[in-house]
Amino acid sequence: MPLHRGPEERDERPRSMNPFFGEANPVVEMTEAPPRHRLPTGPMPPATACQLVHDELMLDGNARLNLATFVTTWMEAEARSLMAECNDKNMIDKDEYPRTAELERRCVAMLAHLWNAPDPQSVVGCSTTGSSEACMLAGMALKRRWARRNADRYPSGDARPNLVMGVNVQVCWEKFCTFWEVEARQVPMEGDRFHLDPQAAAELCDENTIGVVGILGSTFDGSYEPIAELCAALDGLQERTGLDIPVHVDGASGAMVAPFLDEDLVWDFRLPRVASINTSGHKYGLVYPGVGWALWRDRNALPEELVFRVSYLGGDMPTFALNFSRPGAQVVGQYYTFLRLGREGYRAVQQTTRNVARGLAERVEALGDFRLLTRGDELPVFAFTTAPGVRAYDVFDVSRRIRQHGWLVPAYTFPANRQDLSVLRIVCRNGFSTDLADLFVEDLARLLPDLRRQPRPMTRDKQAATGFHH
Ligand SMILES: *Cc1c(COP(=O)(O)O)cnc(C)c1O
Repeated sequence: MPLHRGPEERDERPRSMNPFFGEANPVVEMTEAPPRHRLPTGPMPPATACQLVHDELMLDGNARLNLATFVTTWMEAEARSLMAECNDKNMIDKDEYPRTAELERRCVAMLAHLWNAPDPQSVVGCSTTGSSEACMLAGMALKRRWARRNADRYPSGDARPNLVMGVNVQVCWEKFCTFWEVEARQVPMEGDRFHLDPQAAAELCDENTIGVVGILGSTFDGSYEPIAELCAALDGLQERTGLDIPVHVDGASGAMVAPFLDEDLVWDFRLPRVASINTSGHKYGLVYPGVGWALWRDRNALPEELVFRVSYLGGDMPTFALNFSRPGAQVVGQYYTFLRLGREGYRAVQQTTRNVARGLAERVEALGDFRLLTRGDELPVFAFTTAPGVRAYDVFDVSRRIRQHGWLVPAYTFPANRQDLSVLRIVCRNGFSTDLADLFVEDLARLLPDLRRQPRPMTRDKQAATGFHH
């Protein structure tokens, strides 16, 4: 995504608009149009402005047909109305909006409980704009703890910290490492292992390792990384070398799936080595975009000097955030959804989504042209590639052609050491029903005869074909 540039030359061309827009004088609206790349000189009626913006937005994709995104695309009318009520509340003004602040506090407490903190009272946490901000905060806490541990060893401060992760991390971890000058040490994929290997991760650790990131729900294929095994490998490392390396779990998606559907899977604060966990409230937390959560096991995991204080009811309240001002609506939407669904409700929603994913994966497999890499039984997400005998077309062709039916399904190449493998990925979300899944398979099946007749794979610019970014 390029950074936005200045105006284009053709900006001033008159566009003929719908004459109805000119309430007082329809003719004017046929010949004059407001500039698009500089501020118009004068105002226009609200209905006209609204119609102009609305018409332009019609050309955006249909969010419900977007099988690429993890982000919530449907909420109830009641949630939308509550969120609209809170659009004018600034999350940082704890003093002015103490009830919104209280709802945030309750959400953190609920998550601490959901993620099995042994002592929920001692958990510290906050809302963020999403997992990316939450991961920055968690990474900063790990880095500061490492710096404290090493203050005596490196008085000059010239040691270079590193963070260990799988090569399949979401891009926010690469950002963290670049922005905060931490070396990213990545465990490559091997064979049919498309995420981090615990032993290989432990082997990359040394005295300058600030932590290891485990991902509950890899964006590449929807698989859970083995968090308990990772902690065990790091226990072994500690026994051998004395190095005590904390784990951060990036549960952007899975931290709101596993607690409801995989209760026996131990990945959370039950593991003493897990120092912090993040999730995206706007993914399987089921809230519209703009909310994430970061929680630390206890105050030792979050160095005090990173926490700032804002005024709150005459006292002060600790905050940890990159942003200052931020809308309160998403936090309110999260609290509403927690209250509305409860554990049983979340279980039902996530189970339905997983059932749709599994069923769809089976039907894609049954078409015969594809090989599944994952089956939608961890995150409700699966990745698949073309079957060994398929030579006439590739995954990029499928992505390009299915888009003509309105479906957005990304195709992309895996990172080291599986750059030979390119896949398609489908993310099932609440609102992607069995009916829609049926329609999708029908559209996919209808493409196949055409694709099989191709002389060879046809998509030249493979990345541009799907415009995919993790
Ligand atoms: C989506 C995602 C992120 C980034 O989260 P945002 O909420 O989009 O900022 C980070 N890590 C993982 C594993 C993700 O799936």
